[in-house]
Amino acid sequence: YGDASQKIDYVFKVVLIGDSAVGKSQILARFARNEFSLDSKATIGVEFQTRTLVIDHKSVKAQIWDTAGQERYRAVTSAYYRGAVGAMLVYDITKRLTFDHIPRWLEELRNHADKNIVIILIGNKSDLEDQRAVPIEDAKEFAQKEGLFFLETSALQATNVENAFMTVLTEIFNIVN
Ligand code: GDP
Ligand code: MG
Repeated sequence: YGDASQKIDYVFKVVLIGDSAVGKSQILARFARNEFSLDSKATIGVEFQTRTLVIDHKSVKAQIWDTAGQERYRAVTSAYYRGAVGAMLVYDITKRLTFDHIPRWLEELRNHADKNIVIILIGNKSDLEDQRAVPIEDAKEFAQKEGLFFLETSALQATNVENAFMTVLTEIFNIVN
């Protein structure tokens, strides 16, 4: 997961947003450290974590920002969005309300972030299929209508987490190159 001595060609800031308890911090823990915790605390006290990876022979430092318990509507400040080139909009497939709140989060993004920001909609906790409350088709349709990438992930099982980040980072990379 990265070498401190390596030369960095790009730094991409990506923000995680979505309701509380959808799994944002665990998605980040999985991506940045390949870790997962079932009893994760609401706040980890760190603003962002980084991981350096290689895209098309260039080293890209992904700087991923996590909300530290600021998920209340409009509590995330504009500083959080400043300079972000990517966003991961996360809901929990077992909690319908977290999906119903996605349009609000999208509006927040469109009000505060750069208009060219690359956005992926993420339905997390795909391992809990027996508790599914959001049909995959509803999310696909919404993502298509709004021009967002879309994937279902499981931070617990490490399903599609890498894929979700690579989708966003590769798209950003292609835009700047
Ligand atoms: P956040 O508030 O959005 O940062 O959510 P957290 O990352 O703190 O996760 C909230 C709870 O959901 C914790 O108990 C996690 O262990 C759990 N969780 C996160 N991701 C998954 C997942 O993919 N599957 C399952 N089953 N639980 C998850
Ligand atoms: Mg969190």
